[in-house]
Amino acid sequence: MDKTVVIGAGFGGLALAIRLQANGIPTLLLEQRDKPGGRAYVYQDQGFTFDAGPTVITDPTAIEELFTLAGRRMADYVDLLPVTPFYRLCWEDGQVFDYDNVQARLEAQIARFNPRDVEGYRRFYAYSRAVFKEGYLKLGTVPFLSFRDMVRAGPQLARLQAWRSVYSMVSQFIENEQLRQAFSFHSLLVGGNPFATSSIYTLIHALEREWGVWFARGGTGALVAGMVKLFEDLGGELALNAEVTRLETTGSQIDAVQLKDGRCIPCRAVASNADVVHTYERLLGHHPTGIARTASLKRKRMSNSLFVLYFGLNHPHPQLAHHTVCFGPRYQELIEEIFHGNRLADDFSLYLHAPCVTDPSLAPPGCGSFYVLAPVPHLGTADLDWTVEGPRLRDRIFAYLEARYMPGLRSQLVTHRLFTPFDFRDQLGAHLGSAFSIEPILRQSAWFRPHNRDSQISNLYLVGAGTHPGAGIPGVIGSARATAGLMLEALC
Ligand SMILES: Cc1cc2nc3c(=O)[nH]c(=O)nc-3n(C[C@H](O)[C@H](O)[C@H](O)COP(=O)(O)OP(=O)(O)OC[C@H]3O[C@@H](n4cnc5c(N)ncnc54)[C@H](O)[C@@H]3O)c2cc1C
Repeated sequence: MDKTVVIGAGFGGLALAIRLQANGIPTLLLEQRDKPGGRAYVYQDQGFTFDAGPTVITDPTAIEELFTLAGRRMADYVDLLPVTPFYRLCWEDGQVFDYDNVQARLEAQIARFNPRDVEGYRRFYAYSRAVFKEGYLKLGTVPFLSFRDMVRAGPQLARLQAWRSVYSMVSQFIENEQLRQAFSFHSLLVGGNPFATSSIYTLIHALEREWGVWFARGGTGALVAGMVKLFEDLGGELALNAEVTRLETTGSQIDAVQLKDGRCIPCRAVASNADVVHTYERLLGHHPTGIARTASLKRKRMSNSLFVLYFGLNHPHPQLAHHTVCFGPRYQELIEEIFHGNRLADDFSLYLHAPCVTDPSLAPPGCGSFYVLAPVPHLGTADLDWTVEGPRLRDRIFAYLEARYMPGLRSQLVTHRLFTPFDFRDQLGAHLGSAFSIEPILRQSAWFRPHNRDSQISNLYLVGAGTHPGAGIPGVIGSARATAGLMLEALC
C-alpha cells in the first residue's frame, strides 16, 4: 500500500507522523534539511550546543500524550526539567520581576510595583483561566472546517470579549505600565502583536501557571530526538535531505510527491508541515487550487520575523536566569514599528536564553551557551539587506548586553552565529521570512486560518504554525491532533 507522507519534520510534522504511525498508518516523514526539528534545529560548535528556536516548553501533557498513545513512557525518551523562575523580566530603570508559579511570591512582587494591582492581577488570572478552558482545552485541537464551527464558538468568544486586544484586556485589570507589559508580552512568543492580537492569547498566562515551564535535558534538540526515536521505534521512516519540490495531482487528488533529487514517491495522502504559502505556491503552483490559495494567502498578514544571535562564551554568567526578557525603553511604539515600520528601530527589546543555568552540559566546563533574539519586521514590512543589517545589529546587541547584563561579554566570546529574516526565508522556506507564519489576529484565527484539511484537494492536509490553532509548540502539537483526527477518519 502507498505510504502517507508528511512533509517537514518540525514539531507539528513530527507529532502528526507519530499519531499516524501509532494508529497503524505507514508514514514517511520527508525533511529537506540535514536534521529534524525545523525551527527547533540544533547547532553544535566547539563543544557548545545551541537550540536554534523554541526553549520555553509549556503544556508537557500534550507532549506526553504522544508517548502514551503509542504505549510508551515519555521518561524513557526525554527528561523534562522544571524552570524557575519561568522568566526574569528586566527594565532599563533597574526594575526586575521574577515571574513564577507561586501566588504569594507573584503577589509580593506585584505589590512592589503597585499594591492596587494585586487585586487586579487576581481578576486577570481568573479571566485568563476562563479563556484557557474555552480557547485551549475545548477549541485548541478541534479543526474548524466549516463556518458553522465558528458560529458555534461565537457566543463563548463574545463572552470572553475576544475582539479586544491582549494589551487592552490586561489594562482593564492592571494599572502599572510595567506590569501591563509583564502580562501582555506573551503573545509575542507566538508572533502576536499584543496590541492587535485577540485577548484569547491571554490564555498563555494560565497555561504556564497550569503546567509550568520546562526545558529538556540536553536542550530542545533532545526533545526532537526523543520524538524522532519514538516515531522510528513505531516503524515510521524519516528521510533527511529530502526536499519536496512538487505535489503530483490527478484532478483533485494528490498521487505522488516529487523530490528535488529526482525521486517520485506515490502516496495515499499528504500532510504539509512546510510553510503554508510555500506549500500552495511552490508545491502546488501548477494546480488551480494552488494558484487560488496562494493569491488569497498573500493577502493575509504575516507575523513578524526575528533576528537571532547564538553565542558561546568562556564564562558562564551565573547571575542570569534561564529566560530573561530585557524590555527596552519603548513598548507600544517599538511593537508598532516591528509590525508596521519599514526600517529597523534604533532601540530593541530582547529575549536572552541562558540554558546552562538549567543544564550545564550544553557548554564546555566553565563556559556558557547563549542566544539572544530581537523581534524585527518581516521582509514584506521592511525590505532590509540583512547581510548589512545583521552584523550591525549584532554589534549593537552585544554592546547593550555587555553594558547591562553580561559584563565582559565581547572579550569572552568563543564563537557566534546569526540567523536573520533571510535565513527564515531561505533555510525554512518561510514566506517573507516570517518567524511564526500567519499573524494570529482574530480574523485570521480558527475558521479564518488555513484549514487542517484542504476543502478542494481531499487528500491534502496541513499541520503546524500556518493552520489551526497556530504557532508555538503547544499550538503546533494541537494542530497535529486536529489534523490526525481528520486523516484517521479518512484513512482507517
Ligand atoms: C527563535 C524562535 C524561538 C521560539 N521560541 C519558542 C518557545 O520558546 N516556545 C514555543 O512554544 N514556541 C517558540 N517558537 C515558535 C515555535 O518554535 C514554532 O511555532 C514551531 O516550532 C513551528 O513548528 P512547525 O511544526 O510549524 O514547523 P517548523 O519548525 O516550521 O518546521 C517545518 C519543517 O518543514 C521543512 N520543510 C519546509 N519545506 C519543505 C519541503 N519542501 N520539503 C521538505 N521539508 C520541508 C522545514 O525544513 C522544517 O524543518 C519559537 C520560534 C522561533 C523561530
